[in-house]
Amino acid sequence: MSTLLEARRISASYRVDSDGPRIRAVDDVSLTLEEGEALGVAGESGCGKSTLASILSLNVHPPLQVTGGRLRVAGHDIPLDGINGGRVATGLRGKVVALLPQGAMNALNPTLRVRDFVYDVLRSHVAGITRKEAIARATERLERLALPPRVLDAYPHQLSGGMRQRVVAVVSTLLDPDVLIADEPTSALDVSSQRALLALLSHLLEQRIIRGIVFITHELPLLRYIAHRIAIMYAGQLVEVGPAEEVLFQPAHPYTKVLMEATIVLETGTRRQRIQTVGGAPPNLVSPPPGCRFHPRCPVAMGRCSREAPPVVDVGAGHSAVCWWVAEQRAGEAGSMSHAA
Ligand code: ATP
Ligand code: MG
Repeated sequence: MSTLLEARRISASYRVDSDGPRIRAVDDVSLTLEEGEALGVAGESGCGKSTLASILSLNVHPPLQVTGGRLRVAGHDIPLDGINGGRVATGLRGKVVALLPQGAMNALNPTLRVRDFVYDVLRSHVAGITRKEAIARATERLERLALPPRVLDAYPHQLSGGMRQRVVAVVSTLLDPDVLIADEPTSALDVSSQRALLALLSHLLEQRIIRGIVFITHELPLLRYIAHRIAIMYAGQLVEVGPAEEVLFQPAHPYTKVLMEATIVLETGTRRQRIQTVGGAPPNLVSPPPGCRFHPRCPVAMGRCSREAPPVVDVGAGHSAVCWWVAEQRAGEAGSMSHAA
């Protein structure tokens, strides 16, 4: 397998005033996206998912600033000063890496009918494309999302929120980007529209029309329909990464376990129950807790968790968790195995 996108030790913060505090929304995050892969990223509200999406899709604007790390997308090295200054090579954004943004409100042009917007997007990137070809490509994808062709004649304000979100999904994939960064693309959709969008993205990936997808959500169980691997984010950092089946059904990190239980409650009950189950609030990203950031809310925290940064522990092939408790469990298992031998 070859690597399509690689982020290495990326850190980024928001600084609203030049002498004000830094909100460290992404802190030392490394991840890879392989050719043909859908990587799920899940975590609670405010943990930095959209910030990460902005960085990976090269959409960084003040007050966000990337302060460290390296990024490589589809064979292109992206220098940090380029990301921050918006000076990335033409053709990279939208075509090599595209963002399906969270909240579809601003992604369309309110003064243009969908049909004209679609044509503008395609015409600006695909030399010689005719209006007819552009509309045909859009219509095929709209149909896969159970949207009638008449949405092409509508202005954005004439569409419902769910329709608009699906139209934005179609627009973000129209250029057949190598990498699609999809930030909570299903949040405003009912269950059948959610499934249709997941099916469209899976189809584009299987047909290699898109070469890789980073799919961001706060609903971890949703990822079982699309993700090959899953990364769990907590307070600006990744705490667990592994094959989807393992992260979903044999999570290693205490936070992933809590998030999984919490979200199951959300599916069967109310949002209020979800908050009670997770317990406590995510930390302030200006001055996060020392040691492991999850320790104040962790059901199995130990003394050192509040003092020392936790280690990365391998718990299986390509599966790791960043946690002292997991490290102790593994050390205990290794000890009992060597006694048995
Ligand atoms: P959600 O699930 O609600 O979409 P998220 O995981 O996408 O949340 P981000 O939007 O990346 O989280 O926000 C991460 C942190 O950065 C939060 O503390 C948020 O308040 C802060 N933040 C986000 N955007 C800005 C901004 N433009 N200016 C200042 N702080 C910001
Ligand atoms: Mg977000």
